[in-house]
Amino acid sequence: MGLVAATDGEKLCDLLNHKHLEGGAWVELAALLRRTGRDSHLVEFFRELAAVNTTGRIVVAGRSLSEQYEFGGPVFDGLFREHLRSVLGFTNRDVDEVFRFSRRAVAAALESPTKGLQRQLRNWAEVRHSHCYMCNVPMDFEETESHTSFTLEHVWPRAYGGNSIAENLMPACSACNSNKKRHFATWAMPAVQSLLLGLSPTPQRLDEIDGSFKFALHYRAAHRFAILNHCSRKNAFLKIGPWTDIRLRDDDDVADFFNLENHDPAYF
Ligand SMILES: [Zn+2]
Repeated sequence: MGLVAATDGEKLCDLLNHKHLEGGAWVELAALLRRTGRDSHLVEFFRELAAVNTTGRIVVAGRSLSEQYEFGGPVFDGLFREHLRSVLGFTNRDVDEVFRFSRRAVAAALESPTKGLQRQLRNWAEVRHSHCYMCNVPMDFEETESHTSFTLEHVWPRAYGGNSIAENLMPACSACNSNKKRHFATWAMPAVQSLLLGLSPTPQRLDEIDGSFKFALHYRAAHRFAILNHCSRKNAFLKIGPWTDIRLRDDDDVADFFNLENHDPAYF
């Protein structure tokens, strides 16, 4: 059981995480980190970060090759495969499988949502989901230039192989959509260490935590929900709803990223 990978980028990321990042080194690392009290969280963080980062590097390389050579043509395929071998270090044994997953992720990054799908999701949002899935602001469906304008946001970003399909698009206000930025693939991406607030931070300090960190906490909650309930990230976001005020999970522990939450604990 794990989360349902809705997009080709997530499938590539899962392949990297569960096959190419497999090994006893993680167990040793966890043992080494036991004293932090965050050993399993930190190991999960490093694995996720490594898998997402590698996914991003693969997709960027494929996209830039596609600007010079026809995507999927023999020259493109040859050079892309060679890049996976020589730059990213995949062995001859592994390269065929990684190449197949990578090629699909690059194709996803090159496509945009069809007009028909945009219309369909907009109509659905107007009736069924008129608030931003992150900050819960009511969205403006008429005005296109305001902070609260309706947009469709890729849950798994296009730049990381996120397909432009219904299962990967959520209604977001334009402020949240642009805050998340295209390189923000997962909860593991922000500087986790910079969210180290010491013991017992004041409520005001928790209030000052800004949008991108709120997003990371929210995304991680959905990620955990999706794994626990064997569903896609989109379904997880729909279930857990928008974020709430940030609070500590455990008042008696240090306030770092892993001890903060901004969702209803009833879901976990
Ligand atoms: Zn928003």
